[in-house]
Amino acid sequence: MKLIILDRDGVINEDSDDYIKTEQEWQAIPGSLQAIARLNHHGYRVIVATNQSGLARGKLTLKEFNKIHRKMHTHLSQYGGVIEAVFFCPHGPDDGCTCRKPKPGLFMEIEKRLRISLHDVIAIGDRLSDIEAALAIGSKPLLVRTGKGQRQIDQGIIPGDIPIYNDLAHATSAILEAG
Ligand SMILES: [Zn+2]
Repeated sequence: MKLIILDRDGVINEDSDDYIKTEQEWQAIPGSLQAIARLNHHGYRVIVATNQSGLARGKLTLKEFNKIHRKMHTHLSQYGGVIEAVFFCPHGPDDGCTCRKPKPGLFMEIEKRLRISLHDVIAIGDRLSDIEAALAIGSKPLLVRTGKGQRQIDQGIIPGDIPIYNDLAHATSAILEAG
């Protein structure tokens, strides 16, 4: 299956400790949108799976959330890229949901909705929680140093066998070179 799962904040766009709350705050990481377009052009479907507890915390409304994604899709389309779908967890850490990463619920939802298996599908994130969610469902996690990535590497919490790339652009080049 030529499919890639991407985390959003810290992978596609610059992360913020205070959540991405407005479309103005959504700023693509240099090269990330071009990388998604490259994946598309090589036949990969790209899907986003993202924790968005800012919704549960009242940091932003669903309306603003949708505007942010309109901006993301519009900017991406300028490079000829497409994100097929955005799966998100709107809950907070204490809500006891099954979709907030590191739980694999978002990945399971993707499998269900698209009627596919995510086994061996590459999933790219900037946090241990992204890696754990991917591993839980048998996907192949990659870590990027952008977002929280470098900080988590420095903290020594990233398993040693997880491939690490500077950013989505570098991860994409490696994926495409590997075929
Ligand atoms: Zn959830």
